[in-house]
Amino acid sequence: MSVTPAHLRTLASRAEALTAEVRALCESVPAGSPESEQLAEARQAAQWLARGAEDLERAAADLARFQVQPCRMPWSVCPEHGNTLSSAAGVSTCRVCGRTWNYTRMSQPCQEPVTWKVFDRAGTETRMCDGHVLGARAATQGATFIRLDPAAPHP
Ligand SMILES: [Zn+2]
Ligand SMILES: [Zn+2]
Repeated sequence: MSVTPAHLRTLASRAEALTAEVRALCESVPAGSPESEQLAEARQAAQWLARGAEDLERAAADLARFQVQPCRMPWSVCPEHGNTLSSAAGVSTCRVCGRTWNYTRMSQPCQEPVTWKVFDRAGTETRMCDGHVLGARAATQGATFIRLDPAAPHP
């Protein structure tokens, strides 16, 4: 069995739930009472648990990034807006959001994670990122777009 980001996210949400339970327990005691002072360690524990939940979320995100394949389309796009880039003086700018990229990144195959499978009318499969799918939707007719499950590792 291989570890997926979903496994880590499940553990993270259990740690979050535990954090909330410990905090609720500590807050059920009136602040400033002698009993409340005895719960200092428990409050500390809640902080560690919250921290653990965050670390697990981060690990899930890292693993997800590691497991996805890059898109590798030979030209670059804005990851959010698609074919909206204009280039001048070594800098590419998205005409919609104004984000800029330098020429080094723009001249390399797309490094955004693959999130879609696209089948053209002949049934040829291409895997692309969100940005490239936006451009492909505008440019191709009769293609089928299938969103990949972000939690599943891609073969
Ligand atoms: Zn943009
Ligand atoms: Zn791409």
